[in-house]
Amino acid sequence: MRMAVLYKGIPVSKGIALGKILKLETPQFILRQEKIKKADIEGEVEKLKEVTMKVKKQIQMLIDSHENSDIFTAHMLILEDPMIQSLVLKKIRSDRDNIEWALTESFQEISTQFLALEDKLLRERMIDLKDVYERMMRTLKNIGEIDLSQLAEEVVIVAKDLSPSLVASLDKEKVLAFVTELGGETSHTTIMARAMELPAVVGCSDLFEEVVSGQHIVVDGMKGEVLVEPSSKEKRDYEERKRQIEKEREAFDSLRRLPVITTDGKKIRLGINAGSIAEAVIAKERGADGIGLFRTEFIYMESAGFPTEKAQFKIYQEAAQLMEGQLVIIRTLDIGGDKSLPYLNLEQEMNPFLGYRAIRVSLDNIEIFKTQMKSILRASAFGKLGIMFPMIISIEELKSCRELLEECKDEFREKGIPFDEEIQAGMMIETPAAVLELKTFAKYADFFSIGTNDLTQYTLAVDRGNHRIHKLYNSFHPAVLRSIYQAIEASHEAGKWIGMCGELAGNLKAVPLLLGMGLDEFSVNTSNLLEVKEILINSNYQECKELAENILKLESTEEIELYLKGFSNRL
Ligand code: PEP
Ligand code: MG
Repeated sequence: MRMAVLYKGIPVSKGIALGKILKLETPQFILRQEKIKKADIEGEVEKLKEVTMKVKKQIQMLIDSHENSDIFTAHMLILEDPMIQSLVLKKIRSDRDNIEWALTESFQEISTQFLALEDKLLRERMIDLKDVYERMMRTLKNIGEIDLSQLAEEVVIVAKDLSPSLVASLDKEKVLAFVTELGGETSHTTIMARAMELPAVVGCSDLFEEVVSGQHIVVDGMKGEVLVEPSSKEKRDYEERKRQIEKEREAFDSLRRLPVITTDGKKIRLGINAGSIAEAVIAKERGADGIGLFRTEFIYMESAGFPTEKAQFKIYQEAAQLMEGQLVIIRTLDIGGDKSLPYLNLEQEMNPFLGYRAIRVSLDNIEIFKTQMKSILRASAFGKLGIMFPMIISIEELKSCRELLEECKDEFREKGIPFDEEIQAGMMIETPAAVLELKTFAKYADFFSIGTNDLTQYTLAVDRGNHRIHKLYNSFHPAVLRSIYQAIEASHEAGKWIGMCGELAGNLKAVPLLLGMGLDEFSVNTSNLLEVKEILINSNYQECKELAENILKLESTEEIELYLKGFSNRL
């Protein structure tokens, strides 16, 4: 009898799933570079024509089936470009390159020319060129495209890595869980898994190489355990635990309608983090006090081109109306880092998290930024919206954001377009620079929200998505906690409210500590909302204040975690 094999990884999204593996092989092109014989030239040219015809059909299908088909129309133009065609033909006929080498060389030559261009728009066509090239290669080598949006049966995805955009397109009905070899606790892929309430384990070494599609698998998103080919008894045990977890979840439901007030009367706002209307609906059902972070990048990632003012307005309007007067904080586009946007054609960078990201991209693309701000302003007439800027490191950036927002407001006033004149504009605290300069920022920000996912990585110089160093990535590091405390204190001194939307806000061990530090608002994932609420309403603020004072005296992460564990056990 075959024994079940147990793998250990990092638990990043709770829940238990039992199902069959769908192993996601990322297409790899193994390039054959060959010189062909004279007699084979015409055969190779024929092959090129065949591949081109097939690709043409694929692109035509995409044009026909997408509302926003501009991107695919551009792909068709590239495919039919006579200059590119003759370059590839020349490489086959004169240089006697085999087809895949002729295509690769041509792609590289044209890319180099594109990169040298001054014209930004033309340079941006690079991504389309690459897409067409890869489509040609996939077709030539008979490698299918990854499409997980419509699956025939329920599966557990096993992959080396998953991009946030692939997760965004997952068939939510059929995907039960996922396991990856790469990734960390706060990489965007895992944040999305939590938001979708999809059990997930990342950083699971060796698993990918050792399994095949169709094998049975159990994923335990709490313990970070992955069991391949479980025995019938093991399956029954996991099924039982799964039922138990569901029961506990139901028991929490009675908490929904209770206000979030500590035992000694301190009122706290408990919102959720959302990336879509579907999550806002869950937040409403679970009795959240609004949305502390609406991540808008997923709207951009799911769209084939920049979403229009009208398209974005509709989404923000729906969120505003749904939350019925409770604050919904819309964060402006936070792209870059581990989130890419194909049509923005971001260059590969050595250090993407330290690079062209978030507000830097928006301030460099003012029209796109203003389109987003206008859509938020328009929607502000339908509920209570806030606007929040990500990754601010300098007062100049914040001032520019506010100036652009004022320009949009002036335009609306002139045109008589209604919006909320009282709309609050705040910023994320995600870098040591933002913590240290918070007092100055407070002159231009109505509120703050601490993004501990980034604050931790930038304070400790530990990449949040790198599984090799994930043990170093710890928000309970004294430096991170001291930064959080410093930010809360400075904000209160300046008379501004401050919340937290990083993953630490939903960490059950951290909740009493953050309460004691004086945090005004917690914004957590829908899956954690009721557990966090239970802790808050059973906590005594004065006791938690003492806890915070004691924690801030400790010297190491280990001591802090131990102390907090002891405190939680007493609750
Ligand atoms: C954060 O950095 O903590 C945050 C909430 O932003 P994101 O995770 O989207 O980078
Ligand atoms: Mg962030």
